[in-house]
Formats: sequence, structure tokens, C-alpha cells
Amino acid sequence: MAVLEVRGLTVGYGDRPALRDVSLTVEAGQIVGLLGPNGAGKTTLMGAVVGAVRPAAGTVRVAGVDVGTHPRRARSRVGYAEQELAVFPTLTARENVTDWAAICGVPRRARADAVEETLAALLLDEVADRQVRTLSGGQRRRVHCAMATVARPPLLLLDEPTVGVDPATRRAVLDHVRELAATGTAVCYSTHYLPEVAALDAMVVLLAAGRVATRGLVGDLLARYGSTMVDLRVA
Ligand code: ATP
Repeated sequence: MAVLEVRGLTVGYGDRPALRDVSLTVEAGQIVGLLGPNGAGKTTLMGAVVGAVRPAAGTVRVAGVDVGTHPRRARSRVGYAEQELAVFPTLTARENVTDWAAICGVPRRARADAVEETLAALLLDEVADRQVRTLSGGQRRRVHCAMATVARPPLLLLDEPTVGVDPATRRAVLDHVRELAATGTAVCYSTHYLPEVAALDAMVVLLAAGRVATRGLVGDLLARYGSTMVDLRVA
């Protein structure tokens, strides 16, 4: 089942186009890696999925719900870790994740387990009782990621979730994403690191100047484009 369906999406900021006629689907249990250089339109695409950016043309449906006509209902089906961190600095890591779980409607009786599982998956147990303002950048980013996943939404949007995260904990983030996909979550994962999408065995959608430049499985694209694709590691 397609959890995310984007059809002919065109978005402009003023008269500057940021996305042009973009279509993609993410099925339940599938991970789509969104790649592309700075300014390619990855964040704009995610913004359109959560209804924060209004399209000039095209449609976005989340779990069958049209974002244009039912924005709140569609939004409630999406876990979104934006590029900009949105955490409360004076609350602890556990409080941030618990409060967010409550806002997302995780029932009280299930909340503590969901929070502890998520904190543990992202290797945050040891810092869970510290105010977020006292955590490192990479730890804060993982708290932010935990807030997006704690309610186990059908669709997960992660915008460069491993920026500033060290290699060991990056693996934990990737494992968490893989496990969620294995239980049926549809994941859209934006990154500049091709090895990450390879590790996730993701379907790649490569955006360039607001258009889909190419798409396919990582292995197939590497075979087809070789070093051009590898250059994306530093794009
Ligand atoms: P990055 O890899 O740097 O995060 P991105 O692929 O996420 O880039 P977007 O942030 O979606 O790219 O930007 C796409 C285009 O839209 C860029 O040309 C950018 O300058 C422009 N843009 C993004 N947000 C706005 C805004 N709020 N107002 C005007 N232009 C914007």
C-alpha cells in the first residue's frame, strides 16, 4: 500500500520554482532515500508533505488522506524530524519525548514503554534525565529523532537526521529506521551520504534543481552512474 503518494508536485517560493512536477510513492515498509545537492528541494518536498508549504500544482496524499483538503488529518499520520532542531532545551530528553508522545496521541498506558523503547533504540538512556540544553549536538539530534518516531506513525520523514552524529550512534539511528521499516513504517530519509542509503538498502530518489533527476535502487544506480553517484557523498 502506498503510504505517501506525491503526484506532479510543483512548489514555488514567490516566482522561484523549488520543485517541478515531482512524483514519488513510498510504500508501507519501504525506505526512500532522498538525495540531491544543497537547494535541490528535499526539505521543500517534506514541507509539502506536512502541509507547511503550499503547492502551486499537484497532490500529496498520506495514507490515502489528501494533504490539501484534510491537512490536520494527514499531518497526524506523519512523524517529521525537520532539519532544524525543535526540542525544548529546559526539559529533559525523556520529558521532550514523553510530551511529544502525548501530543501525538499515544495512549497514557502505552506511553512510558514507547518512550523507553525509543530512547534505548537511539542510545539515549544514559542521558535521558538531563536537560536537553546540556546535551551535545549529536545527542540533541537523536532526541529530535526520537520525538518523530515515538508515536510509530505510518509515515516517517527524516531530514538529514545524522548531521553531527558520530559513527557509532549513526549506526543506532540507521538500525532504528530499519527496524521501523521492518514493522511497516514508510520512511522518507533525506541525506547527503550515499553510504547511509546503501546501508538502509533504500530506493533512491535523486533531486536536482527541483526535479527528479533519477531514481532506482542504490546498487543499480551505482552500476549505472559509477563515480558520478559516488560524488554525491560530498555533494
Ligand atoms: P539542503 O541540502 O541544503 O538542505 P534542500 O534540498 O533541502 O537543500 P530546499 O531547502 O528544499 O533544498 O530548497 C530548495 C530551493 O528553495 C532552494 O533554492 C532554496 O533557496 C529555496 N527556498 C527554500 N526555502 C525557502 C523559503 N522559505 N523562501 C524562499 N526560498 C526558499
